[in-house]
Parts: sequence; C-alpha cells; structure tokens
Amino acid sequence: MIQHQVVWLTGLSGAGKTTISVKVANRLESHGLKVLTLDGDVVRSKREIPLGFSPEDIRVNNMLIIEICQESLPDYDVILVPVISPFADSRANAKETLGNSMIEVYVRVSLEEASRRDPKGLYRDQESGKLQGLVGVEDEVPYQPPENPNLILDTESLDADSCASELADHILGRSQ
Ligand code: ADP
Repeated sequence: MIQHQVVWLTGLSGAGKTTISVKVANRLESHGLKVLTLDGDVVRSKREIPLGFSPEDIRVNNMLIIEICQESLPDYDVILVPVISPFADSRANAKETLGNSMIEVYVRVSLEEASRRDPKGLYRDQESGKLQGLVGVEDEVPYQPPENPNLILDTESLDADSCASELADHILGRSQ
C-alpha cells in the first residue's frame, strides 16, 4: 500500500525543479502510481486577479498550493510541487498542515549557475530592468534555503536523470 505523499521541491528559478518533476512523474507513473504535478505558475494564473511575485503574493500562492495539496491528496499517490517557495515560513506552514505525508526536497544550484542556465530568460530580464524582484537576486525577495530538508539534490554535481532517479527511489522507498 502506497502512503500518499506530497513532494515539495524548493529551489531558485532555473534550479531544475520542473525538469526533475517531469522525469520523476514519468518514472512513478510507470510503476502504476497516480501522480499530480502542481506547478506554481499554473496556480498563480488560475486566480481571478493573477498573483504576482511580491513577497505577499508568493506567500498567498504557497498557501493556495498547500490547500490544493490537502484537498487532492486522497485522490493521488504522489503530488509533486515544483515551486520556488523561497520563504521558510511558507514551507513550515506546509509541513504543519500536511504533516508526515510531506517531504521537502531542496533542488540546489548556485545563483551563478541558475542565471547561466536561465531557461525562462528571467535573470536576463532582471539584468535589463524588465523584471523586478526576482527571487534570490534582490534583497527584497531573498531565497531562504531549507535548513533540514528530507533530501538535497545538488544539480551542479548530478545531472537531471541522476537527480530524478535519486528522488524517485526515495519516494518509492517511502511508499513500501
Ligand atoms: P525550475 O523549474 O527550477 O525553474 P527548470 O527545470 O525549468 O528549473 O530548468 C532547469 C534547467 O537546468 C533546464 O534547462 C535543465 O535542462 C537544466 N539542468 C542542468 N542540470 C540539471 C539537473 N541536474 N537537474 C535539473 N535540471 C538541470
């Protein structure tokens, strides 16, 4: 019997949360598990007034995701949550609400490497002044790394496939 799990992936933009989630979802589904992926952007854009990236909006977005996890967990074996979630208090809220069914995964990358990858062009937009308040770049919206995550995936020393295998094994191991 699988234990229903929320796998919360936190890390800078460009860390690899989405890439790893897609690979992990495929792997889990091939084991017959029912998987939901809750991407932060999808939740953000579903609101009547779309949420932005101010610290307040980020906190609201994270709260909404926690609520959706709570509502949806009975229907899924695993919910993957690839969201930057830069604030320790939001992640602590998630843990408090979801309890033992949640694991926190730190998808680690240096700011230098994240801005070199820049898959969405956000660091470039920040540099040129088109975008303000990108998480981890300006003091106004710092990224607070988790102090005690269940798993750290170091995306600078492991490639995406290895990170995904490690996470999938962790999830499958917990579910036995
Ligand atoms: P995020 O969802 O965290 O913003 P993305 O998954 O959208 O990040 O983008 C990460 C980028 O980094 C992709 O272009 C991916 O191919 C690349 N990458 C390089 N190494 C890794 C790794 N070990 N894990 C995940 N992605 C990696």
